[in-house]
Amino acid sequence: MNNSINLTQLYSDFPSVKQLQKGEYVFWVNKKRNAAYSIFDVSMKDVVDAEGRLQRFSSYLKLAFPETRILNGIIESDIKEIAEMKALIEGRRAIEIPGRLLLKCDHALPISGSIKARGGIYEILKFAETLAIEHGYLKETDDYEILYSDKMRQFFSRYKVAVGSTGNLGLSIGIISAKLGFQVTVHMSADAKEWKKKHLRDLGVKVIEYNQDYSVAVERGRKEAESDPMCHFVDDENSKDLFVGYAVAALRLKEQLVSLNVKVDEDHPLFVYLPCGVGGAPGGVAFGLQQMFGEHVHIFFGEPVQSPCMLLGMMTGLHDEISVKDIGLTNETEADGLAVGRPSKFVGSLMETIISGCYTVDDSFLCRSMKAMFELENIFMEPSAHAGVFGPIQLVSEGAAYLKEHQLMDKMNNAVHLVWSTGGNMVPEPVRQEYLQTEK
Ligand SMILES: *Cc1c(COP(=O)(O)O)cnc(C)c1O
Repeated sequence: MNNSINLTQLYSDFPSVKQLQKGEYVFWVNKKRNAAYSIFDVSMKDVVDAEGRLQRFSSYLKLAFPETRILNGIIESDIKEIAEMKALIEGRRAIEIPGRLLLKCDHALPISGSIKARGGIYEILKFAETLAIEHGYLKETDDYEILYSDKMRQFFSRYKVAVGSTGNLGLSIGIISAKLGFQVTVHMSADAKEWKKKHLRDLGVKVIEYNQDYSVAVERGRKEAESDPMCHFVDDENSKDLFVGYAVAALRLKEQLVSLNVKVDEDHPLFVYLPCGVGGAPGGVAFGLQQMFGEHVHIFFGEPVQSPCMLLGMMTGLHDEISVKDIGLTNETEADGLAVGRPSKFVGSLMETIISGCYTVDDSFLCRSMKAMFELENIFMEPSAHAGVFGPIQLVSEGAAYLKEHQLMDKMNNAVHLVWSTGGNMVPEPVRQEYLQTEK
């Protein structure tokens, strides 16, 4: 609880806080989107740089993770049309979603089966590259295959990596760090699923469990790492490297859309719906997308009704100075990847001139969407990953004012709605079955 927050004032300044507090659906439009772009301390140059670094590591990744061979060591996912799902939504809700409905399949990213295979793996690769270059083991012009050796594993084993996570970031960081040879500790919040902890322990990762939420796990991890100069802490609430790793997705998306014949311009709006936890993953992707498509991309973040930390932080302008618990929410949700009560320290303010808005979604929708996606499209995505699916529904139902304001009403038949799926492929079969059978 933050005692400096005056709730009475907050309710009168932002009436939707009351709705958030009741756990109702909120569709919030960001009025600052059209403001002049502020100066960011992340630039497109950093993103291009990251793409180059991932290219350099592709030969290492091919050796270390054979499943990346089909894409030549590049960690990337497909885009799929989900027409059956679209028809179901339209039928059930008696609405029309004009344009096409596509799914960005980050639930199927190689190595760790979630969007964290972008930022998380990138940050560790960068750390490893920096160390190897500093100590004379590597030059940028080398074939990075040479990092896949006992000698290099021995070298990296002198260093430590630590991270605090609700699950998927820990999984990504643990898998890549253990493969390179680092000693790695993952601080897991109470909501982290048992199978994620077991998977990591089986890889020799040290897993520390907390019965508190994500912010506590991050804080403890940060504290522990601070006192150790050999330890690199992956700071999900602050990391620019994570952010930039996620942003690379947008460079690749632009090419993918071209090859799918999807146009994005003044007459062909692109709507993108991203699940949001602390904000790093959707924020990084959004930053990249805005650099690629400018005002023609309209980005919305989806959050659980009990964990709308980004919506609350952006709407009130308080960002990480307010927690969902300050307004009486529980921060409890089936969407473990999104169980975050306080947003990133820097993402929200960066998003002020970029995203179109945020909306909330409840666990019951996530659960129904999970079953429908599996039955109709044969795609399994974990509950968190379904927060994006609610986006087009809310845009059609609640977004008329936004569409009018941006003169989009008569262009909607040309629209593409891209739902960004964020996790699922690593979920073990018995856990999937359990998910698919729960009633919500
Ligand atoms: C981490 C995660 C997100 C959100 O990413 P943040 O960086 O926490 O905002 C969404 N979906 C899944 C499945 C995740 O693991």
